[in-house]
Amino acid sequence: MTLSNGNLAELLAGAADDEEAPHRQRALRRASRAALQWPEEAASLAAQGRSLTELQAVGPWIERTVAGWFEDPPDDVDPPPLRRGFLTLAEVRAALAEHPEYRDAVRGDLQMHTTYSDGRAPLRVMAESAAAYGYEFVAVTDHSKGLPIANGMDEARLAQQIVDIDAANGEMEAGGEQLHLLRSLEMNLSPEGEGDMEPEALAWLDLVLGAFHSKLRVTEDQTERYLAAVRNPQVSVLAHPRCRMWNRRLGLQADWPRVFEAAAEAGTALEIDAHLSRQDLNVELLEVAREAGCWISIGTDAHHPDELRWMEYGLAAAALAGIPRDRILNFLSREELLEWARRT
Ligand SMILES: [Zn+2]
Repeated sequence: MTLSNGNLAELLAGAADDEEAPHRQRALRRASRAALQWPEEAASLAAQGRSLTELQAVGPWIERTVAGWFEDPPDDVDPPPLRRGFLTLAEVRAALAEHPEYRDAVRGDLQMHTTYSDGRAPLRVMAESAAAYGYEFVAVTDHSKGLPIANGMDEARLAQQIVDIDAANGEMEAGGEQLHLLRSLEMNLSPEGEGDMEPEALAWLDLVLGAFHSKLRVTEDQTERYLAAVRNPQVSVLAHPRCRMWNRRLGLQADWPRVFEAAAEAGTALEIDAHLSRQDLNVELLEVAREAGCWISIGTDAHHPDELRWMEYGLAAAALAGIPRDRILNFLSREELLEWARRT
């Protein structure tokens, strides 16, 4: 078999688990995660006689390890559930080369964070970086007060942020910039599907994302909390629905066809959180969402300007799952998107 970067990510992760020397274990772990974002298949680099050290997190020792696998490939590479169903950048680029219409259609990013909550760059830096992608809109989705660990905003700080968003929009418009920031929020949902903000504060917003951040390691079926969340009239988009994290957290279980049908009925969109380590929903569940006829929202969940580039992962997942382009919020014009949000 020709080993893909996905196979290599898995082999490197497995080798890290077996490695006892801490510095080697760290190098293997770093290379494993980096393999998810190598821009080309390592196998094709090797076939061209290029050095694998061109790739992020690959030094001479990792290169020798990988070369050993190329020479003598294992019979099969089967990731455990914790690392299953993640796209690599090489796969993403191949999918978008086949479906360029998805890349061409994107007009905005619908989840990013700033220093108003746990992002690492101020609002204007994130806005400037997003403008470089040629977007028409970006949703500023900082956390709400129920998530103090992420510096979540209460109603008063949200009001301050909105003043700042409006000012930034004014400055960008005056500068001839087409980007418009949407007043948005990643509202924390209780395990019962309830929001944590005063309803009057939500009335100021263009778009409200709702997301679970607690009791994420339970293994029992969570269908009830999902049904409550997608039927919660305050929530327009259910963000990172499964709450999984690559190699760290499996995410929640539910009767997905039932949840997604309820979302379609309520008109609540499901998110593709395109963050490298989340990819949530993934292609397999997106196919279920497609069958239910759900709206889909794509957000990078960027906490740093560099992370805005992960949009490609979300676009590729949508393309591979065959999500109709007219069900993707990021492909609407800003006016259509605002109109959609008012309706839901
Ligand atoms: Zn979140």
